[in-house]
Amino acid sequence: MKLTWKRYDLQLKHTFRISRSARDTVSTMIISLEHDGIIGYGEASPSARYGEDSTTLETFFSTIDLAKFESPFLIDDILKYVDAVAPGNTSAKCAVDIALHDWVGKKLHTPLYRMWGLNPMKVPLCSFTIAIDTKEIVQQKVREAEEYPILKVKVGLDNDKEMIESIREITDKPLFVDANEGWKTREKALESVRWLKDKNIVFIEQPMPSAQFDDIRWLRDHSELPLIADESVIRLSDIPSLSQAYDGINIKLMKCTGVREALKMIHTARATGMKVMMGCMIESAVGISAGAQLGPLLDYCDLDGNVLITNDPFDGVRNTRGKMILTNAPGIGAMPRT
Ligand code: MG
Repeated sequence: MKLTWKRYDLQLKHTFRISRSARDTVSTMIISLEHDGIIGYGEASPSARYGEDSTTLETFFSTIDLAKFESPFLIDDILKYVDAVAPGNTSAKCAVDIALHDWVGKKLHTPLYRMWGLNPMKVPLCSFTIAIDTKEIVQQKVREAEEYPILKVKVGLDNDKEMIESIREITDKPLFVDANEGWKTREKALESVRWLKDKNIVFIEQPMPSAQFDDIRWLRDHSELPLIADESVIRLSDIPSLSQAYDGINIKLMKCTGVREALKMIHTARATGMKVMMGCMIESAVGISAGAQLGPLLDYCDLDGNVLITNDPFDGVRNTRGKMILTNAPGIGAMPRT
């Protein structure tokens, strides 16, 4: 098993501003896992919020030794080893997980969703993200996103009302609202939720900082909109306690180490009565296509990371008018653009 990696700088169509950062380009790392004449592709899109960058990825990929395993079919053994190499490094671990699953799917000539017995027609409609900006730019983005039936709106700075009102001047589409931990007190959060509640909002994502668990639990008791955990949920072990404060979780492959753990998280969340959403970082079609394979198990889908960029190096699961199209392409269903 031979592992190689290559960095790509993904160009965003618009500056991507959320409550804690603003970016025009995003670095991602695509890995190739080669064995027996087949290449499995994986991706790590590192996030500073979780302590990763291009340097930590290179260190991690240089450290792991996959040559000691007989074949990529030993996914469980390999991922246990990879997870134990160092704590954190979740997007690096995710890249290995995706590449192994892609390799196995290609070897068996089968898309992953089919190996898991999932109905490709059951993927919920995918939202399109509108990041924080001026009224003029927000309205331009909303017009550009006309084909997408659900919008996800970033809030959490001091222009929340302007963001929502700018959008509502143009469309009454359902909105997911994501504060990215931007509301710092429970009173402010409740005031925001109350203002939003009759504006066709589906849910509020991560209203307050993840460290303020008791405040979020209080907010949930007073909120008429469902609350979804994002920054509060990283891996499987986070889930059981979250049901006290949230109505659902947003799983991201880059945080949870990949599709193998994501599958366990989906079932665990269901067992605690929570809804399941899948989101993403700014990613290429490699990460997005891997997530889309789990699409039929989701309540809410937010896998738009590669429709926000202009130079996706891969072609994979397509998003047409918000519908993720799962095809017969084996593995994750993504290949390099030639
Ligand atoms: Mg979020």
